[in-house]
Amino acid sequence: MQINGNAVMSEPLFNRIAVIGLGLIGGSFAAAARENGLARSIVAGSRSARTLEQGIALGIVDSGSQDLAEAVAGADLVFVSTPVSAMGTVLSALKPGLSNGVIVTDGGSVKGNVVNAARDALGAHYARFVPGHPIAGKEKSGVSAADAKLYRDHRVILTPTDATDPAATARVRALWTGMGAEVLQMAPDYHDQVLAETSHLPHLLAFSLVDTLARQGDSTEIFRYAAGGFRDFTRIASSDPVMWHDIFRENKAALLQALGQFSDGIDRFRQAVENEDSDALMGIMTRANTARAHFLAMNGRTSYTRAHSVQSVGDDTTMTDNTHATTNPTFVVAPGGQLQGRLRVPGDKSMSHRSIMLGSLAEGVTQVEGFLEGEDALATLQAFRDMGVVIEGPHNGQVTIHGVGLHGLKAPEKALYMGNSGTSMRLLTGLLAGQSFDVELTGDASLSKRPMERVAKPLREMGAQITTGTDGRPPVRIRGGQSLKGFHYDLPMASAQVKSAVLLGGLYADGETSVTEPAPTRDHTERMLGGFGYEVRRDGATSALSGGGKLTAGKLEVPADISSAAFFLVGASIAANSEVTLPHVGINPTRTGVIDILKLMGADIRLENQRDAGGEPVADLVVNAAPLKGIEIPEALVPLAIDEFPAIFIAAACAQGDTILRGAEELRVKESDRIQVMADGLAALGVSHQVFDDGIRITGGEFGGGEVQSHGDHRIAMSFAMAALRATGPITIHDCANVATSFPGFAQLATHAGLKLEVK
Ligand code: NAP
Repeated sequence: MQINGNAVMSEPLFNRIAVIGLGLIGGSFAAAARENGLARSIVAGSRSARTLEQGIALGIVDSGSQDLAEAVAGADLVFVSTPVSAMGTVLSALKPGLSNGVIVTDGGSVKGNVVNAARDALGAHYARFVPGHPIAGKEKSGVSAADAKLYRDHRVILTPTDATDPAATARVRALWTGMGAEVLQMAPDYHDQVLAETSHLPHLLAFSLVDTLARQGDSTEIFRYAAGGFRDFTRIASSDPVMWHDIFRENKAALLQALGQFSDGIDRFRQAVENEDSDALMGIMTRANTARAHFLAMNGRTSYTRAHSVQSVGDDTTMTDNTHATTNPTFVVAPGGQLQGRLRVPGDKSMSHRSIMLGSLAEGVTQVEGFLEGEDALATLQAFRDMGVVIEGPHNGQVTIHGVGLHGLKAPEKALYMGNSGTSMRLLTGLLAGQSFDVELTGDASLSKRPMERVAKPLREMGAQITTGTDGRPPVRIRGGQSLKGFHYDLPMASAQVKSAVLLGGLYADGETSVTEPAPTRDHTERMLGGFGYEVRRDGATSALSGGGKLTAGKLEVPADISSAAFFLVGASIAANSEVTLPHVGINPTRTGVIDILKLMGADIRLENQRDAGGEPVADLVVNAAPLKGIEIPEALVPLAIDEFPAIFIAAACAQGDTILRGAEELRVKESDRIQVMADGLAALGVSHQVFDDGIRITGGEFGGGEVQSHGDHRIAMSFAMAALRATGPITIHDCANVATSFPGFAQLATHAGLKLEVK
């Protein structure tokens, strides 16, 4: 046991560590081992006496020797961090000094050749050789650049072979973890292939580009005017040429393969430029534009918003990302104020999905405005890109889709990743059931638990071949080349997604496909098909269409989402002197309960400029502050306002008298138990209320500020932000990260309108 001041340190992992090659990587390793108390003593081996003196002077090693066998004597761990090409010679030189049972490991950037060299050089010690590679670095080299924190929050790849003792691998893993690194494991050859693509090729390209330009006659001019893009791309050409020379030689086979693939890509680009082929150019660039975030999300099986927050890094750290560093903001809203202005809230999510699907299958170019850049709709967008559709944007809600026609989709190269979006997976299952190619749909951990048989079953009855995973959950695999037949389906449950999947399958079926629903559900698919010129026959609870038609591209302004507008409807109603116009809000009759309820409470909301947008009714909503009164909410309106109750509860807290909601048990199984979480928040502000199993009674009046937990429920967070307009003290709302998924830019828009909101 080591005693350090008052702290009792546990036994160090190793007694004596020998670091051979005390440069950036070796020096940082020694410094990190020292700082984290991972060894009793640390000794260095180097060709140069000066390097050893420097290491001792810096305090990162205790002693050193130029004789490598002497340096490793008595060590129970040896870390070799010389250039890769020197490893064979170095390992042979140090071998005579190795103790029995010693673990040897390394930090070389290439693994296949190092493993071969170790096998040849180490004899019996090879069984405890654990090849490794820290994915961390700097542009500086030498011991003076050593940094005890270099590996913290970075990845280290270990590449044990079949011959490696697992106990040795486990101890090396523990050592790196003790330095704060995250350890991954893979086979040496796979490591070399992955690194060739993600690190070695980009470095080669940077060296090559800078060299090519520097050779030109007017290179001084070129470098004088070099813009940010050039500087960003070529920064890694400042890395150590000696080390990279070594890496390119030692990883020759994998690098040549990566270079070959890259040359093919460049040829495709060259051809597109030569032929002025805009479709091909836009296809390459729009896919590349979003590929990084997409693949990071896909690999991590995480959300797109997390992947988008990843920052780029350079040098030998090309594979690193900072997905662990995402933050969860808190809203702090000062009391009082009023809302003013013309406020465009984000587009409707359901319609954003469908705009991409139908725009892709249409003939011609569809211009979409008001697209919701939330991650669910982005998953749909990426899926169509993966099937060869050129989609520009989204930029500020604008998307341009170069439709390929009903039969123009191409087989994706990999499974289509739907993130967390159930809508994408269910609707695409229908739409892809009638394609000529096979396809697999996957999702994140939470989507992978959701039932998919409800869409697969009716589609199978149409002739589709679909398999689902365990218990009918994702992945969904669809076999192409089936001929579908139209049929009639009586929906066993009210579900807009199942209805839509069957109708979208029906686009590819012979004859008529019809669906009857037991209760009305959102009818955005039927309406938007109509907007794209595809006839949908509707008769009471039944919708029907015939296969074999075509969709015609056009302009589509996705209506603003009434669920997002609801916060401003309430905010402007409760804050004296407010006047707000919310343009182009969707007023589909299955969604307008919030307007009816607020009007019953006395709100001053006018629907102006009512019109049709791609089959959907829309209007500009004009709201003026008005005194509200408590009401008993009619149960018939409950399903039509189910997502808007958190905002309506805030209106109730500001109304005179009691507002009573019953028959809303569904609120308990939304993103959170919305009755209880809202009740807890109201209690924190001092609003009187009584909770029922299926609803709540709220007594309006004056209330104070306080701390509210949103439990990650975006609608609860935004509702309490609006409550501050009438509170007597500031309201702090925790756990607001999910606001961005349904309402990107909420804080900016609300602040612009007059809410005193700060994001912390
Ligand atoms: P560095 O700072 O230049 O250090 C290299 C060390 O190796 C120096 O101590 C040098 O000793 C010694 N050395 C050089 N040639 C040698 C030879 N022929 N025989 C014996 N010793 C020799 O380089 P580094 O950045 O630490 O790289 C070390 C290893 O880590 C390399 O295998 C590299 O691939 C790998 N790596 C580097 C990075 C990075 O970004 N830099 C990242 C991950 C992995 P003297 O002091 O005696 O010259």
